[in-house]
Amino acid sequence: MSTPTLRTEETEARYQKLKEDGILEQSCALCRVEPKHLFTYWKIIPNEFPYDKIAKVHDMAVTLRHTAELNEEERAEFEVIKSSYINDNYRYLLEATTRTKSIPAHFHIHMIEIK
Ligand SMILES: [Zn+2]
Repeated sequence: MSTPTLRTEETEARYQKLKEDGILEQSCALCRVEPKHLFTYWKIIPNEFPYDKIAKVHDMAVTLRHTAELNEEERAEFEVIKSSYINDNYRYLLEATTRTKSIPAHFHIHMIEIK
């Protein structure tokens, strides 16, 4: 049985292909992607493999530092971003659990505007 996913079949296949090719291990995809919005400690980036079964827009809030653990400044700014930018632009915040995270080395939160 396949793993449940919020991606459509097509997007999931594209994502699995990338994983099998080992691209995710070679360099950090989250560090690589250009921001659509920049804060002091965070950037907002589009998800290249959106949860497109449910998402019309699927972006991610990512720390500028390549880190799995947030420091105090990052935590504080996230609360500000959450109650302003994120609240204004998305309907849901989603954090994958460790079982589901494909890039556990770089902290990220999914933000979704549903279809
Ligand atoms: Zn990174």
